[in-house]
Amino acid sequence: MAQPDDQFKRVISHAKEYGYIFSSSEIYDGLSAVYDYGQNGAELKKNIREYWWKSMVHLHENIVGLDASIFMHPTTWKASGHVDAFNDPLIDNKDSKKRYRADVLIEDYAEKLNQKAQKEIEKAKKRFGDAFDENEFVNTNPRVVRYREEQDRVIKRMARSLEAEDLADVKALIEELEIADPDTGSRNWTDVRQFNLMFGTKLGASAENATDLFLRPETAQGIFVNFLNVQKSGRMKIPFGIAQTGKAFRNEIVARQFIFRMREFEQMEMQFFVRPGEELKWYEHWKETRMKWHLSLGLGEENYRFHDHEKMAHYANAAADIEFNFPFGFKELEGIHSRTDFDLKAHEEHSGKKLQFFDHELNESYVPYVVETSIGLDRMFLAVFSKALEEEELENGSTRTVLKIPSVLAPFKAAVFPLLKKDGLPEIAQQIVDDLKWDFNVDYDEKDAVGRRYRRQDAAGTPFCITVDHETKEDNAVTVRDRDSMEQVRIPIDKLSQFLHEKVDFKHWMS
Ligand code: ATP
Repeated sequence: MAQPDDQFKRVISHAKEYGYIFSSSEIYDGLSAVYDYGQNGAELKKNIREYWWKSMVHLHENIVGLDASIFMHPTTWKASGHVDAFNDPLIDNKDSKKRYRADVLIEDYAEKLNQKAQKEIEKAKKRFGDAFDENEFVNTNPRVVRYREEQDRVIKRMARSLEAEDLADVKALIEELEIADPDTGSRNWTDVRQFNLMFGTKLGASAENATDLFLRPETAQGIFVNFLNVQKSGRMKIPFGIAQTGKAFRNEIVARQFIFRMREFEQMEMQFFVRPGEELKWYEHWKETRMKWHLSLGLGEENYRFHDHEKMAHYANAAADIEFNFPFGFKELEGIHSRTDFDLKAHEEHSGKKLQFFDHELNESYVPYVVETSIGLDRMFLAVFSKALEEEELENGSTRTVLKIPSVLAPFKAAVFPLLKKDGLPEIAQQIVDDLKWDFNVDYDEKDAVGRRYRRQDAAGTPFCITVDHETKEDNAVTVRDRDSMEQVRIPIDKLSQFLHEKVDFKHWMS
């Protein structure tokens, strides 16, 4: 098994080698925490976006889409609280000159305590075998209890200090816990300061008339300000949702984890508008629904967990993350937040316009409450890509690199090969490509021996390879090889399309 660090390095280099992800403006040595998606990456990203869109918008009669602009009236960000409160607490190490998020340093410390407790549990599990009662052990083993209590105490104290904006106490906590710079081990810290994450820009031709704008740090506000437009023009009745995907920008303090934390990234968000008082019921509903969506992709149930928030954002009355087991450990992949009526009310106050819904059943108007699901498309890409990449040992002792991307998301659904570059085989293979390309993204490859072509497609993530051989001319059938099992079956050419539909269609994966 690859060590987590090795696996992460492998992910980054494989993503580059196979045309998935490049550093932005690489010929100028790149731009920190900004990335470009290559020919395969653009396809995978589009397919993830589509998988989300179809399941959220097309499968729900009461959810519709929206595509709002990145630029918004500057008052939007005053109302949303981003101008005053979209800050991260930063801390610098005076020796290494490295900058960190203070809350992340503390969370990482707490996670280490969790891992220590987990180790004790694993050890005991091995020792006691079938007789092991995990629940009892967790509640009575002094070491586990101590680790867990300490973890809880640390997180609660941090949440309290951040809530009260007591940054001196956040620093005191870092010192008490003797947290050191993860890179150098130095404990020589500056004070903790707040840092606003929004990028500013200007609108207008001349400096005197220019208006200060922000690049949106989340897509959600475009949904809130359009709430009534969509509700009225679509004659939507509560409960209903508005979904959108699009770019968001954050001037992240620490952005060292490839596409996990970028300065320009894409979000897929859905705001679900509900009756006041019903938000927590819907919050639970969306937690469950979103987890099901993740599990439908088959990346392994053990790689997901919920993390309920202690420290709530300024707008939320309940919040949880779906965390994923990235190569560097469990981290947030998606957030589910009960945002109350905070945003719509704030926009009412700042715009002077009513943002209310008349509920015929209740015969009253109210500002709806909102439950939000918010996932980073790039993070989802990293989750899929990093779990898919495997170095597999084969029965004959050799190894192969295979990218087991769920076929519904794979850039190419199939690659078509003529066994040889002669005897009319390329023409048949090309005809198959021409027939399939209307429904599927298919590749054509005639270079090198078939074994090498298989390896190339395995590493690029193509789920099926279709080989045209001499027998094809007799029986009008081809050999189809499955990327994951490497099994081969013979399929008539006129059944290929049906075969692929059954394997790669959205319906097959989501239903
Ligand atoms: P984090 O705690 O990791 O900074 P967050 O809680 O600020 O994330 P949200 O504001 O809830 O994130 O954003 C919703 C989703 O957008 C996140 O779950 C994540 O998938 C994605 N996201 C947020 N910031 C970034 C970023 N800088 N790069 C890539 N994706 C991001």
